[in-house]
Amino acid sequence: MRIGVLAESDPGESRVATVPDLVKKYVALGADVTIQSGAGKDSGIPDADFEAAGARIVGSAAEAVGDADLVLKVRRPNADELKSFKKDAVVLAIMDPYGREAELKAMADAGVSAFAMELMPRITRAQVMDVLSSQANLAGYRAVIDAAAEFGKALPMMMTAAGTVPAAKAFIMGVGVAGLQAIATAKRLGAVVSATDVRPAVKEQVASLGGKFIAVEDDEFKQAETSGGYAKEMSAEYQKKQAELVASHIAKQDIIITTALIPGRPAPKLVSKAMVDSMKPGSVIVDLAVERGGNVEGAKLGEVVTTEHGVKIVGFANVPGRLAATASGLYAKNLFAFVETMVDKESKQLAVKWDDELVKATNLTRDGQVVHDSFKSKSE
Ligand code: NAD
Repeated sequence: MRIGVLAESDPGESRVATVPDLVKKYVALGADVTIQSGAGKDSGIPDADFEAAGARIVGSAAEAVGDADLVLKVRRPNADELKSFKKDAVVLAIMDPYGREAELKAMADAGVSAFAMELMPRITRAQVMDVLSSQANLAGYRAVIDAAAEFGKALPMMMTAAGTVPAAKAFIMGVGVAGLQAIATAKRLGAVVSATDVRPAVKEQVASLGGKFIAVEDDEFKQAETSGGYAKEMSAEYQKKQAELVASHIAKQDIIITTALIPGRPAPKLVSKAMVDSMKPGSVIVDLAVERGGNVEGAKLGEVVTTEHGVKIVGFANVPGRLAATASGLYAKNLFAFVETMVDKESKQLAVKWDDELVKATNLTRDGQVVHDSFKSKSE
């Protein structure tokens, strides 16, 4: 079994799909691992460390994947990269498949079996392969660090001889994996933390982390969770009521972190321009949903916008990538755990179990077709 690892071609991507400790594990599984030179640079991993772990370093993308049975990537391969892939190669990456019909067709046409790691079912067996969780957790942490860095005041209450500094107030909107870590991080830094979400189950989790829960708790709210544990899109009426409640709360906050997402849909708009303008000058909002359209009016992808009123709206792209070394390490473990289920231990060859529920849930393309139920009709 030959494994190829590419240096990510997207200039905004600092992560790499494997790390030296996991190269050793792939080698122990019986694999030959080839890595494009410089792949680990932004994660602080020199070629020599990959080599010492047993990988072969090559100069070009084509050499890294030309004869690979399995290609490990962070982002979906682009048309150029696909040209070098072996037909039938298995490709694992964060594929960002929604609304990408042409890109999915290009992968099907290249003959590769592409797997979207972000579609991994959230069941106990697959927790170790859950890239959404491993990366969102880091994004939640980093969002608070970024907010603290942009905020011109201290977060914890400090009683000093020169006077008392009040604790900052932080409000976390959307309490999934990223939001929970944002609450925990803001608490550790000494902020007074509150949070909101449309899922009722979250209320206790917020309380257990020492945060205050803020939400309109009507009947719609009590039923607002899909069987998969994700948020439903709420009615316009609910959104209006919730907006009114949070509007008065927002005006009193110093820091807001928004993380609200709905799978396969644009991010819900939670913070209007009027709400932004109600905050004190110097307040900071970090919009972690900015890559999916944003939760905050006025957020710009890849920018820190300062409003006329002096509120900063932080819209960094690829927030997990701002902790590239940690993010790569966890992502690499997620991939390895999935690959292990695809390898025949005796022959040491790739032997994908096409009937496995994890494979079915994540496999986008195979044998020249888009095969995933959620995407196939749209790409034909
Ligand atoms: P996500 O990234 O899809 O969304 C972030 C949060 O935004 C969610 O909590 C969602 O409810 C919230 N949200 C959506 N619309 C909102 C609105 N209008 N206002 C306020 N909040 C809004 O979520 P996630 O982090 O991927 O987590 C989704 C679920 O999956 C959670 O129940 C989580 O506990 C669960 N989960 C399960 C496992 C597992 O069992 N293996 C692993 C990770 C997460």
